[in-house]
Amino acid sequence: MKKPQEASISKTRVIGVFAHVNAGKTTTSEAILYHTGRIHRVGRVDEGSTQLDWMEQERARGITVTAAATTCQWHGYRINLIDTPGHVDFSAEVIRSIRAIDGAVVVVCGVGGVEPQTEAVWRHADRQQLPRIIFVNKLDRVGADFLGALGKINEQLTPKAVALQIPIGCEGEFTGVVDLVRRQALIWHDGADDPDVESIPSTMEAQVASARASLLDAICETDELLLDQQLAGHEPDEASLEAALRRATIAGELVPVLCGSALKRIGVQTLLDGVTAFLPSPTDVPPVQGTVPGSADDLINLPAELAAPFCAVAFKIVTDPYIGHLTWVRVFSGSLRAGEMVYNPRANAQERVGRIYLMHANQREQVSGMAVGDVVGLAGVKLAVTGDTLCDPAHPLEVDTVGFPSPVIMVALAPATEDKGERLHRALARLCEEDPTLLARLDPDTGQETLAGMGELHLEIAVDRLRTEFGIIPQVSQPEIAYRETVRHTGEATGTYKRQTGGHGHYARVHLRVEPLPRGEGVLFENASPPSEIAPQFLRATERGVREALDKGIIAGYPATDLRVTLVGGKFHEVDSGPLDFHIAGSMAVREAFRRAGPGLLEPLTSLNVGVGEAHVGAVTADIGRRRGRVRDISVHGAVYNVRARVPLAQVCGYATDLRSLTQGRGTFVLEFVRYGAVPQAIAKEIIDQRWIEGKIPRR
Ligand code: GDP
Repeated sequence: MKKPQEASISKTRVIGVFAHVNAGKTTTSEAILYHTGRIHRVGRVDEGSTQLDWMEQERARGITVTAAATTCQWHGYRINLIDTPGHVDFSAEVIRSIRAIDGAVVVVCGVGGVEPQTEAVWRHADRQQLPRIIFVNKLDRVGADFLGALGKINEQLTPKAVALQIPIGCEGEFTGVVDLVRRQALIWHDGADDPDVESIPSTMEAQVASARASLLDAICETDELLLDQQLAGHEPDEASLEAALRRATIAGELVPVLCGSALKRIGVQTLLDGVTAFLPSPTDVPPVQGTVPGSADDLINLPAELAAPFCAVAFKIVTDPYIGHLTWVRVFSGSLRAGEMVYNPRANAQERVGRIYLMHANQREQVSGMAVGDVVGLAGVKLAVTGDTLCDPAHPLEVDTVGFPSPVIMVALAPATEDKGERLHRALARLCEEDPTLLARLDPDTGQETLAGMGELHLEIAVDRLRTEFGIIPQVSQPEIAYRETVRHTGEATGTYKRQTGGHGHYARVHLRVEPLPRGEGVLFENASPPSEIAPQFLRATERGVREALDKGIIAGYPATDLRVTLVGGKFHEVDSGPLDFHIAGSMAVREAFRRAGPGLLEPLTSLNVGVGEAHVGAVTADIGRRRGRVRDISVHGAVYNVRARVPLAQVCGYATDLRSLTQGRGTFVLEFVRYGAVPQAIAKEIIDQRWIEGKIPRR
């Protein structure tokens, strides 16, 4: 077993590679693994033999769905690479991988430029203030245009992007790059792995001079010392320029842009140099912050130091075919050896870390311990779910985790034969463990399993995994939207439960008020009843009755949300009242009060971003209108029009197919869940009637 920490912490980089589907993320990641010497044969995506994409359906679809973490070495640096999904349907995957990394490489296609998916991921990264560098890929392809791509990056992603290199030749003639800081040409001669350092081709001198001047201006702008030097007419030296660029990149003031061809493996070494030179080490980013469990106000910072208490965050749970349950963690501080205990504040439990694995592409290596900056898989840690903190039991700390949105769309699943029901149930439980944005539910009355997720594709892939990983092929219903119920104004009601059966009777009366709360607040329960009306021993049962009724749904069988229930008063009987009586009376009261409070439905709203040629803009916007959508803005980037709209999720099921026929296959789109919003009353009525026709709710 190797020592856990080979490179020092300042020589570690924990990064992710982001791109829209097909920009070349997989090819770039593989080229990185090739050059860092870990794999000796480069698998081609087209041949379905990549190292990172090892899940079968990813191969079939050619998209990267799940993050796999890989470790590699580059000139004395250790690079921990977390592979990230390209499809924004899996935004939880994107969010949680952003949480685990310190910096990112964003791959942009040198032919297609910036696509809506890259913009979506870019915004996520902005929110987390993640330092980034950009790699403009595919410069060997017909139609490649580096300056065009740079323009789109400046326009659509960030004005802070600055070219650090410019390409030598283009399309079939693309052979290398000019390093603008060092003023040298790097040329990859036919089939050579490594570039030759040459002088800048004479035909490019003017272009290089002007690009270099802009780069220097941008760098000096961020550093007073350099700016003074420049103003005094002295050109800063290379080392100072690179140091300033590093500081500016980490501070988010500049985004260096590099270029190449991952397929031809041109510019990959310089990209790796860029990663080590400009992206932060774990010590360059703010220390991990958390709270002491049980006292939400005590904020603690843990420095990225070996001597600090151990703290790691689980970012992914997988079921490995050979090892079984593996919890992937990013270590933020301290160190820990296999066999030692970790504390999980959410589960309020300690677990022993069994074995620790490092991943090199698809090969794993068992190591004896883990330390700051490591990204490792843990066997034996069974309780953790994605987002959980694992810390030193002597220094309990809970890192504030990114909240995951609750699922917004669901399908019903029926096993092929009755005896497979139990297996289906277990398989679904596994999938949900790995992905917090999936939710499986077994209806105890009908015995039906439902699976809910963040989008159609998300569910499709989950169902596909049932087949490939568990050998289960269930029948899948049409996707259904996860509506919610809520109220629009205030309503009050009394529920009285009274029975006289033989001996002693049953009695409870509950008077309560229901009122609306802002979106996202959930259900709040408050007690304002005098103890003389509802004795304290009945409060818990009353609340449970209220919450159960709301959870089941009142008007349409969907969970109610965003409301406050206030217990105003009631009545109990010294002899006859019991907790169950208050449970029932609470449920009766809240159902009636809810109906009096202007009930309505909420539906998931999505942001729809469509990229389309001018000829189809009219058709696309008209179609959005028919879907109850609202166009928010239309921007033009070269030949591509970006239409941004807010559309109810219920109206965009199957949009991929519809857009294809609207645009003759030329449109691209990204769909992201944004928030819940009110369903127009007339449509809510249709939905409720349909629920009644399908026998999902009793008629009132
Ligand atoms: P991902 O979806 O972002 O992971 O993209 P892939 O790495 O799977 O690449 C998508 C397609 O583009 C594949 O057919 C690759 O062979 C091709 N590709 C990737 N990088 C390059 C490149 O630098 N040049 C050319 N010509 N093709 C590339």
